[in-house]
Amino acid sequence: MWWIQAWSEYHVEEPEIRLDEIYPTRMFTTAHRLKIEGKPGSINVVVSNTSSTIQPIFDFHSTIVMNFINPYGIACAYPRLTFDYRGLMNPGIQSPDKLNKCYQKYHDRGFSIVSSLRKWKGFKGHECGVDPSCSQTCRSIRDGHVLFADLPGYIGKQHILS
Ligand SMILES: [Zn+2]
Repeated sequence: MWWIQAWSEYHVEEPEIRLDEIYPTRMFTTAHRLKIEGKPGSINVVVSNTSSTIQPIFDFHSTIVMNFINPYGIACAYPRLTFDYRGLMNPGIQSPDKLNKCYQKYHDRGFSIVSSLRKWKGFKGHECGVDPSCSQTCRSIRDGHVLFADLPGYIGKQHILS
């Protein structure tokens, strides 16, 4: 966390949240909310408990939040859904109460959140296991369906796993 505060205007807004106590079987340990004084919005820094910094993103509650920023750019794993204000549930092991709270937050922001792609018109005939928006499709951040926007000064996708 120190490097973000040392190299940017961001500062930690509140004490860290012990995610490993809330979700003991998940791949993340802590979360930190950072803000720039006097500016709207914030960023969340989630600390992985695996050797991968990206893997925990896919352990989150829905496709809506399966996005990340790395030193090279900004990535969105489900751009077709996310930019259409849609999200697929990732129920995993969290309690229904916690999940419903998460889903309600994004519903209040205008997102439609469902458990299956087939619940939306336009996806009823999709091919399970092939459509990149389908939860049955094996995905990779290098599969060409991840939206990656380079940050200025960086080349892009070849650095995505760095
Ligand atoms: Zn499907």
